[in-house]
Amino acid sequence: MVIIVIDGLTPSVFEAADTPAIRFLAEHGEYRRASSVFPSLTPVCLASISTGAYPDVHEIPHLVWWYRAEQRIVEYGSSFGAIRAAGFARSLRDTIVDLNAKHLSRNAETIHEALESAGLTTGAINITTYRGSHRHLPTIPGVPAVNGPKRFFFYSLYESDRTGAPMAVRNRALGSIDAYAAAVGRWLVTRDGFDVLVYYLPDFDYASHAFGPEGAREALARSDAAIAQLMDAAGGPDAFLTRYAVVLCSDHGQSVVGEVVRLDAGADLVTASNRAAMVYTQTPRAVAERLDAQPAAGLVVFEEDGRIVVRRDGDEDDALLDEVPDGHARAAAALRNPNAGEVLVSAAPGWEFLDLAGRHHLGGGSHGSLETADSEVPMLTVGLDAPPASITGIKQLVADHFGVTVRRAA
Ligand SMILES: [Zn+2]
Repeated sequence: MVIIVIDGLTPSVFEAADTPAIRFLAEHGEYRRASSVFPSLTPVCLASISTGAYPDVHEIPHLVWWYRAEQRIVEYGSSFGAIRAAGFARSLRDTIVDLNAKHLSRNAETIHEALESAGLTTGAINITTYRGSHRHLPTIPGVPAVNGPKRFFFYSLYESDRTGAPMAVRNRALGSIDAYAAAVGRWLVTRDGFDVLVYYLPDFDYASHAFGPEGAREALARSDAAIAQLMDAAGGPDAFLTRYAVVLCSDHGQSVVGEVVRLDAGADLVTASNRAAMVYTQTPRAVAERLDAQPAAGLVVFEEDGRIVVRRDGDEDDALLDEVPDGHARAAAALRNPNAGEVLVSAAPGWEFLDLAGRHHLGGGSHGSLETADSEVPMLTVGLDAPPASITGIKQLVADHFGVTVRRAA
């Protein structure tokens, strides 16, 4: 099986795609729109794709969060400036090593752990949630070893096999990361090197942040070319589908940014990035009520006496969550993540929050909120059961396909 994740691809761009590899897969599969998780930000979503769990179980809460155990900020890469503000070496270590080694809960089990403990061979290319049981040394001295799947390739930094692929990080805007993934993927398919491959293509999201979701269509041609390379390596599209079942999805959507603001919660700590913010506070209700007057704050959620409270512009009503995809489950799971703040803020349509370094995507695209545009993803399955309604359903689909029992989280 090949699980293709095109970061930030919206359902409408997918549905209108006229690129050949994606069209071919769509014509041979079953499709629906599915829900992401909240916050609809890449590290949170990829952890849910990989573990089949919502964030209350996998415990990755946001792109930027307060690590209570170590009393410090974790920043996975909201922007280059934010990485520098949080400490360059610290942020890289958090993103590349500790997300998997420390932050991702041991109660969650990745696709790689589930399938490899059943004797199957799995592969991962560039996905940030890669935890597995095989030790991999870095290609650059001084970087820690990590535990990944048997076939493991991560931005030229970890490579389980010598493939001759070009360096991943040469020219991001021209799609060098997806080109690296394609070269590695071609090598693996040629050698029939896996039972399941997670094939993660991040360059589309990069273009969509810069040009907005509808402006990134040109970048989709490069994602498509990366899929076509896998097909070529198998002997063409038909031969590819004879050998592999396919899931094609994205991790979250994107929406257009028209206004930006630094979210202020007085003396309480705010961690904000893109279209989601968290407030770490002893007085969640007071914080949420003060946010009523803030136009950038859309749905604001907190927990009170074991119950989820939802506010927007001064209205307090659970039914507000009916307006967004999978709203109740997503809000509750986000709040019940032990690493989350006590108040979660989903940005109002059109708004984005400044990150640690004051960076934003004004005039471009962003995501992170509970709103539909950020939260709906395309979900296509080929040669499998019907596509799941949530990105949390992919792992079970994979396990069922191979007859593997997944370890349920406590
Ligand atoms: Zn993004």
